[in-house]
Amino acid sequence: MFADIILPIPFDSFTYLIPPALEDRVMRGCRVVVPLGKNKIYTGVVLRTHNNAPAGVEMKAIIEVLDNTPVVNEPQFAFWQWVANYYLCPLGDVMKAALPGAMKPKDEKALRESSRKRRSSTIDSLYSNDVATLSALSPPQQKAFDEIGTSFLTKNVTLLHGVTSSGKTEIYIHLIDKYLSQGKQVLYLLPEIALTTQITDRLRRFFGDRMGVYHSKFTDAQRLDVYKRQASPTPYQLILGVRSSVFLPFQNLGLVIVDEEHEQSYKQQEPAPRYHARNAAIMLAHMFKAKTLLGTATPSFEVYHLAKKERYGYVRLTQRFRDMQLPTIEVVDTKEAKRKRLMKGLFSPRLIEVMKTALEKKEQIILFQNRRGFSSFIECKTCGWVPHCPHCDVTLTLHKKTSTLTCHYCGYTTRIPERCPACEENKFTDVGTGTEKVEEQMAKLFEGATTLRMDLDTATTRTQYEQIISDFAEHKADILIGTQMVTKGLDFDNVSVVGILDADTMLNLPDFRSYERTFQTLSQVAGRAGRNNTSGHVILQTRSADSDIIRQITQADYWQMFCTQMTERQLFHYPPFRRLIYVYLRHRDDQLLDHLANDMADRLRAVFGERVLGPDRPPVARIHSLFIRKIMLKIELEASTEKVRQNLIAIQQQMLALPVAKNLNIYYDVDPL
Ligand code: ADP
Ligand code: ZN
Ligand code: ZN
Repeated sequence: MFADIILPIPFDSFTYLIPPALEDRVMRGCRVVVPLGKNKIYTGVVLRTHNNAPAGVEMKAIIEVLDNTPVVNEPQFAFWQWVANYYLCPLGDVMKAALPGAMKPKDEKALRESSRKRRSSTIDSLYSNDVATLSALSPPQQKAFDEIGTSFLTKNVTLLHGVTSSGKTEIYIHLIDKYLSQGKQVLYLLPEIALTTQITDRLRRFFGDRMGVYHSKFTDAQRLDVYKRQASPTPYQLILGVRSSVFLPFQNLGLVIVDEEHEQSYKQQEPAPRYHARNAAIMLAHMFKAKTLLGTATPSFEVYHLAKKERYGYVRLTQRFRDMQLPTIEVVDTKEAKRKRLMKGLFSPRLIEVMKTALEKKEQIILFQNRRGFSSFIECKTCGWVPHCPHCDVTLTLHKKTSTLTCHYCGYTTRIPERCPACEENKFTDVGTGTEKVEEQMAKLFEGATTLRMDLDTATTRTQYEQIISDFAEHKADILIGTQMVTKGLDFDNVSVVGILDADTMLNLPDFRSYERTFQTLSQVAGRAGRNNTSGHVILQTRSADSDIIRQITQADYWQMFCTQMTERQLFHYPPFRRLIYVYLRHRDDQLLDHLANDMADRLRAVFGERVLGPDRPPVARIHSLFIRKIMLKIELEASTEKVRQNLIAIQQQMLALPVAKNLNIYYDVDPL
């Protein structure tokens, strides 16, 4: 007897001998311990057992079986296979992402460690059974709720397009209640950063210990507990979780809610599988014949397009709860203000005035700046030398408080040099603006005002992040400065002013999605103002005050923005009209990589013709000392994904078989964001 085992390395599976003593215990879905290579030991999952001895290979035997019953069920296997096929990666990579760390210990020490941890975890005992009764939906909310029900009669996926603070979460709560009372399981997905204590507590009040939370910042033991509970006869009925919770075992899934559907962070960038949790969740729901509700104030084009084509159902909610007004967005032309020398650093006179008034009224303020650190980089005043990361193709970001320069790709950090290594002079200027600079300038402009900063530097852990949120909610600071982190579904009562310091850096990014993104991000950040009782006021500073996109943002005119952008997308064959696949090649040797990338592009052209573009150097063409090339494929939506996959894998195998291609790394990003 033989078994094909999935291991947590980038291959589909490896075949092992089943020793007679273990024959009864090696079952599909159970974990086993196996040797690999000379002296490595791995934990893997049995994919299948069979009698076909592979020819001409010396086979090793399974050492140990860890489970008496399968820990991966049939729906999971089907889902893993779909992820591997669609996102063009080996099953091993999918398994690595799908199982909590504690389930795939590498060696015996780790095995013992993980069973010790399992015993000491306590998550289940934390929650009581007390549950609150659901609140009275408002008439527009009730209408939307009913429309969702009707839509689900004919559509598997429905988009709930509701302005910020219209009560989407309230509607989800009612829907969850409905499905739970039918004995169905519900998965409620949120972007990583939006899964805060705020939302957890709000749901906990209604669903008590029927709800499990699954978060990547939880300890291994906590995640293992949730996983095991879901595989047990008494699983949580509701899972509130981040993207990786699509990999949990479900038994009776009836509904998936994907909140903030447009959020980019649903896409896993690194490492493989580079899956999109929203799309994967739709597939997961499909496998269970369950329904999917996608909620957002600013739909992604992909989803809105399908809703307009009536592939998805569509429910609109245009009123804020209690008829609160959407905040007014006032545009301040910084080009004009600069010409008249009225700017105080990054602040226009109008923004300063509005902030002062709010501070006098003891109202709070959020300032949005899309870049962390102090400035983008420093430059030698004499010769123009700019410090770069020695391992990546990027400039180092200045962090003034710590007097360091940091690479935001690999983390390389160095002190600011005393003298320019090129010309030996010692005068530097800084270029660009980050949150740290905003904080410094503000301290001078608004003496006495207290500030908090929220970005990847100050909120490195979940605890720090939660602390900043709760401190701001308790009004321990007047002003919150932050990157995109402050845009994610936060609900502060007392914020009356939102200041967007510079809309242009986002608009000018060289990306076909930059307008869509800017619209989404700025609408979301604006939506933080005036959520409860306070009326909101947003100041948007820009150098392109009279552009169409700025007008569309201020008038919350999603439709106009969508139509304008879609014309361009269609013209240049971009999503949602085509499916994009990026093929990446990585190698230490830049010249050899050039040769290999051209070779691969030629082979791709022979099959895919003009759908192939490149190879190109991506904007960051070297990371961690590996050079990178990108080949782009634009595939018609009607094309068979399976056929595309087979062609790509065949060409990849030809490439990797070339003697010069030793150490070449090829990977894919399907539907890149
Ligand atoms: P969204 O998810 O659309 O941003 P929320 O569901 O968070 O909106 O609602 C915004 C605010 O209004 C929240 O503080 C919420 O508690 C309150 N709210 C919304 N609908 C109701 C309702 N039907 N009854 C009581 N409070 C509600
Ligand atoms: Zn110099
Ligand atoms: Zn680097």
